[in-house]
Amino acid sequence: MRSLQVPFFDLKRQHALLKFDLTQVWSRTVDASDFILGNAVSDFEKSFAKFIGTQYAVGVSSGLDALSLSLRALGVRPEDEVVVPAFTFIATALAVSMCGARPVLADIDDIYLHLDPAKLIAILSKKTKAVIPVHLYGQPADIKAIGKFCKQHRLALIEDAAQAHGASAGGLRCGSLGDTGCFSFYPSKNLGAFGDAGLVTTSRKAVYQQLLHLRNYGSMVKYKHEVIGFNHRLDTLQAGILSVKLKHLTEWNEKRGQLARHYDERLSSICQLRLPARRPGNLSVYHLYVVRTNRRDALKRYLDKKGVGTGIHYPSPIHLQEAYRNLGYKKGDFPIAEKAAREVISLPMYPEMTVKQVDAVCQIIAEFYRK
Ligand SMILES: *Cc1c(COP(=O)(O)O)cnc(C)c1O
Repeated sequence: MRSLQVPFFDLKRQHALLKFDLTQVWSRTVDASDFILGNAVSDFEKSFAKFIGTQYAVGVSSGLDALSLSLRALGVRPEDEVVVPAFTFIATALAVSMCGARPVLADIDDIYLHLDPAKLIAILSKKTKAVIPVHLYGQPADIKAIGKFCKQHRLALIEDAAQAHGASAGGLRCGSLGDTGCFSFYPSKNLGAFGDAGLVTTSRKAVYQQLLHLRNYGSMVKYKHEVIGFNHRLDTLQAGILSVKLKHLTEWNEKRGQLARHYDERLSSICQLRLPARRPGNLSVYHLYVVRTNRRDALKRYLDKKGVGTGIHYPSPIHLQEAYRNLGYKKGDFPIAEKAAREVISLPMYPEMTVKQVDAVCQIIAEFYRK
């Protein structure tokens, strides 16, 4: 039992099961050779918009590009300020910097580790243009409170849904709750491509049209350029792969939910661990299963030694990253984010994982705390 290897993550099993369909995508793309904005792109956009419950979806080159193009399409300009949580993957803040705007950080709450709506009023300024809550680990952020604040102060609401494909709040899917929803299809996300890929969802027609221009050199008609744009398109090949995998996403998310409940049950007796909290009425898709402990580094070493892969999402809050020193924040500015960065550890989680593997991981964790 102890020598059992549980990887943190494993894509090979998933792809082995889908090998025939995935190979067909390759073969179809070779035949059609429509590599850029081919039919598979609009097919996937339609299915994904339907899945999320928005009018439109625009495939782009990555999650980071989905965020930065959203900001531009919603009118964020250099010198503007955009609020992002102090505890997230750095891409949320980088997207703001890519527009020449300034990321303004807000601390998270201690229960869900989400952008705390109570912290917004103190950092609001005349330059604030948008807020980007992050549905961290696949659990929906408090969009109700943040949305209300945005409406009151006429700010754009951009959801960073890069970890939340299929998650929902009050029956509505993440990505349909703000002005735009930004998805990443980085291979290890709940829905992953064979390389970099991303997408923006929206129900606002004007924003949709802006996005179509911005991802394609500012152009909809060849050699007619209406705005200054980029090359941030979704590849036809990636769209084909994503369409095959989208059909399995709900079943995969349900598997993740079952494994998470099993972890909850098996770990609930270990009082030194804080298990992920669930907001009532929300459906998490458990992109990651993250527990908290003040002996995090020792636990991680112990699990490593026993052959269990783990991750730290994330070891440093945004304001303590070298890249953002110029923002002028210092240690102690966002105490909850700093504490989270010291305490979080992500346990193995992927749909093909077995209940037996969860048991094995939990047994090793129990052993660690008994010592
Ligand atoms: C993965 C991720 C991104 C960036 O997506 P890429 O496709 O890797 O550019 C942004 N935000 C969050 C929260 C993410 O997890």
